[in-house]
Amino acid sequence: MDFLIATHNLKKREELQRILSPLGVRVLTAEEAGVNLSDVDETGVTFEENAALKAHSGCRESGMPVIADDSGLEVDALGGEPGVYSARYAGEHGNDKKNIEKLLKNLENVPEEKRTGRFVCAVCCVFPDGREITLRGTCEGKIGFEPAGNGGFGYDPVFYVGEKSFGELTSEEKDRISHRGNAMRMLSEKLKEYI
Ligand code: IMP
Repeated sequence: MDFLIATHNLKKREELQRILSPLGVRVLTAEEAGVNLSDVDETGVTFEENAALKAHSGCRESGMPVIADDSGLEVDALGGEPGVYSARYAGEHGNDKKNIEKLLKNLENVPEEKRTGRFVCAVCCVFPDGREITLRGTCEGKIGFEPAGNGGFGYDPVFYVGEKSFGELTSEEKDRISHRGNAMRMLSEKLKEYI
């Protein structure tokens, strides 16, 4: 069964394809499926709302089952910020360096034990017949005092699980514990009931 994935991010597609292959699922980007998807304004106030906006819009426009995700970082000492604004925390969309600088500045006087937080990944899967699956994967960790490692993207260099930052893990090590890996594995379990 073919699913459209509402992202242009090829790393996400590969990860999803790896996890869903055993179910006989093929994951296609819009380009690969030959469909044109409109950009969706992420106006939701929760990760789930944004994932659902993208999945419903993609399903309406393509007529295919669609998988969409929305993810970000919640920091307890900042009341859950940057949350759904993770990509544009420092103003400019997707400027990882500035986002990390702003995060570390805002946590300047916060001691180690209070620097807890989590990565969150909400996934929404919508079928043309109206069926819908929404779920959330998380990964608990702590925000470090300085970046470490060159791997990954976004806040990876300052997000620590134990002694290592996500930026210091290989992609396989990260997939095994990450919010996205957890969400995709949950989706895989759920999809068994639908396929
Ligand atoms: P998106 O849902 O892929 O658009 O992610 C939104 C933003 O959340 C990204 O731009 C990153 O800043 C942050 N983010 C989401 N997942 C990760 C991750 O696995 N590592 C680091 N940052 C992430």
